[in-house]
Amino acid sequence: MKNLGQDEMAKYPFLADAGQYLKDQGFTLEQFGSDPDLKLFVDKAIHRIRSAAKGIPYKSDIMDNEIRDDATLPKEVFSFLLAVILLKLTGINTLIRRFSLAEARRAEEYLQKDLKKMSDEDKDELAIKIIYDLSSITVKKTDKNEDKFFIPVSDYLVHSVHFHEKEWKLINRHVEKGNVFLTSHQVARLVRSELSSFISKKIFSVNTPSMIIGFQKPVEELASFAKIFSVPTMVSTEYPPCIKHAIEVLEKGENLSHSGRFLLGTYLMGVGKPIDQIAPLFKNAPDYNEKITMYQLNHLKGSSGSGTKYKCPSCERVKSKDLCFATSDCDGIINPIQFKKKRV
Ligand code: SF4
Repeated sequence: MKNLGQDEMAKYPFLADAGQYLKDQGFTLEQFGSDPDLKLFVDKAIHRIRSAAKGIPYKSDIMDNEIRDDATLPKEVFSFLLAVILLKLTGINTLIRRFSLAEARRAEEYLQKDLKKMSDEDKDELAIKIIYDLSSITVKKTDKNEDKFFIPVSDYLVHSVHFHEKEWKLINRHVEKGNVFLTSHQVARLVRSELSSFISKKIFSVNTPSMIIGFQKPVEELASFAKIFSVPTMVSTEYPPCIKHAIEVLEKGENLSHSGRFLLGTYLMGVGKPIDQIAPLFKNAPDYNEKITMYQLNHLKGSSGSGTKYKCPSCERVKSKDLCFATSDCDGIINPIQFKKKRV
């Protein structure tokens, strides 16, 4: 990756090497743990982790796609890098996954804005380069005055495979000479999963001692905070492939289609899971809203609305919605509900 400017560093802090960056700025991790003047950066890092875990957008100090003043850059970059260190020390997958996804979404917004901007070509190139480095997608712009980009069909198919909304079906897209045309928003959305996995890999691979002086307390607090997200074990080896797939899509923060949500909700209720254990699965959905999720699950259960209790759809129906991922274990069953029973 080329040398980054200040705005770029603040927008895409995950491109920096955490330990090296802090060292280059003349700080050691121990200083952040002990110097009261540096405490604000640690506090901001904790705030960033907690906001991400709760699904609340982190409010950065970047205005109009640029850093506001000299104080913004260290706040943005240090808080991200310290969050990476704290997460590594904490080692809690739920926090790491949620943080990575939230930061990916944040970066996605900047990528979209940077793709759109055509007055500064250097910045455009960076957005395109980030996308290429993370996903191997070659993005090209059609016209400098239009929010229109194109990528090869083969790249599009690989990266849109888990998007089930109609707009992402190739048949509904403008395709010409082997390329698919997309807006900047769609291009950035296409690489959210890669952004998220790049950030989580960064966290897992950062070199830290097992504990750093002064970090013990925030690490313990984060560990205690993470308990509210612990979900009773949901992914069972006895779940049919279609259900495992639906859970995986949600865990990655991808959008699960309406039919996929219906399948997952009715299946889990059908095997006796209470609503309060099912609802947390949807927390990573891009459009997650706790009230709506609870309402919809209660609706499926027949506790609200018309009182109709909905049943898990048949395998035929699941197949017709492109949500079936049958394996040999599915032989002879006509409804996902039978999968567990058959194997037992
Ligand atoms: S065959 Fe049925 S149970 Fe198996 S993956 Fe397809 S829909 Fe699910």
